[in-house]
Amino acid sequence: MRNMSPVLERGYAEELDAADPLAGFRDQFALDDPGLIYLNGNSLGALPRATLRRLETVIRAEWGTALARSWDHWVDLPTRAGDLVGELTGAAPGQIVVADNTTVNLYKLACAALDARPGRRVIITDRDNFPSDRYVFEGIAAQRGLELRMLDTDIDEGLDAGQVRAAVDEDTALVSLSHVAYRSGALADMAGVTEIVHAAGALMLWDLCHSVGAVPAELDRCDVDLGVGCTYKYLNAGPGAPAFLYVASRLQETLRQPVWGWFSQRDQFAMGPAYDPAAGIAKFTTGTPSILGAAAVEEGARLLLEAGLGPLRAKSMRLTGYLVELGEAWLEPLGCALATPRDGARRGGHVTYCHPEAKQLTGRLAAAGIVTDYRTPDRFRFGLSPLTTRFTDVWTAVAATRDLIKGGESHD
Ligand SMILES: *Cc1c(COP(=O)(O)O)cnc(C)c1O
Repeated sequence: MRNMSPVLERGYAEELDAADPLAGFRDQFALDDPGLIYLNGNSLGALPRATLRRLETVIRAEWGTALARSWDHWVDLPTRAGDLVGELTGAAPGQIVVADNTTVNLYKLACAALDARPGRRVIITDRDNFPSDRYVFEGIAAQRGLELRMLDTDIDEGLDAGQVRAAVDEDTALVSLSHVAYRSGALADMAGVTEIVHAAGALMLWDLCHSVGAVPAELDRCDVDLGVGCTYKYLNAGPGAPAFLYVASRLQETLRQPVWGWFSQRDQFAMGPAYDPAAGIAKFTTGTPSILGAAAVEEGARLLLEAGLGPLRAKSMRLTGYLVELGEAWLEPLGCALATPRDGARRGGHVTYCHPEAKQLTGRLAAAGIVTDYRTPDRFRFGLSPLTTRFTDVWTAVAATRDLIKGGESHD
């Protein structure tokens, strides 16, 4: 076997790219600007070429030519796409549907859960959870006169299951947390936390926005009750593509969602006088779905499934591990503090650093064609997408960050 280059040399990154079994997937994306290093796929994922072709067909042939006749095969697209998302998240068919956005789905599922636990007055979430999650629960608590109990998690190390155990009690109706923290990338223990919540008799709602497509979730195996997630991050379905929601089969009969629309009606086209909810996961939809968006979800999910969950997680861990290693050598000595768990098994697909000039740094990196993301307070995120990010991208981005902090010229 040939000797590898020293780890800090660009040649080492080139060797990692050459040995990467998923390297070929990058060509399946419309990443046409060779000067761009895009490390923000956990904010908006890249455009798959298959999606371009598919949307052209949906627009020209299905909408343009066939018009309303296309509803024949459009009508079950949200559940078909949902089943593919289920393959990515460990959910058997019939438990996930693509609908609305994450925020609206959080509202629907939280209300459904609270109605299923009458008499219990507490919702628990994490003070560091994504804003929409916290705001939706704050709003529901205000509307219903409930208590919103906030866990104070370490913003870099993430959630500790012991904190959940200490917070739940017989008054807890619902606990909702993010599987991967949006700022730090810390990965929560889905099985352990869900078990703690169930032991208190409460329902568990997981937000999978930053895991789907990078970290496999095992919704069924972990006995999760409810889940939501968006599709425009690692799932690459594009801006405004619909989100998904998961309701475990065992709960679909008893739960009732609060937005009663005609798409969740049992016999939609009977146009009946009173609401009679459909059986199954369709009960959790509302009105006309975005067909363009749902088609893009189907294409994005197909590509990820083609790569395979094991290889996706393996590459994601190699990418973040390599970045952390370069960061140890180049960024930490310059005043950057790793703001992501150092243990690869405890993080998702992005790596965050804390630096007093994080905001200016992301701006200067962007000016050099390297797109990362700033997050409060004083943090910048490198989002590494297993289908599109190259090890050489990681090398270039960390070297450029080092040089910008040192005040030197950026590498190319
Ligand atoms: C991106 C993200 C959302 C986005 O919600 P939308 O309603 O789809 O805009 C919600 N929760 C988390 C944890 C996220 O990372």
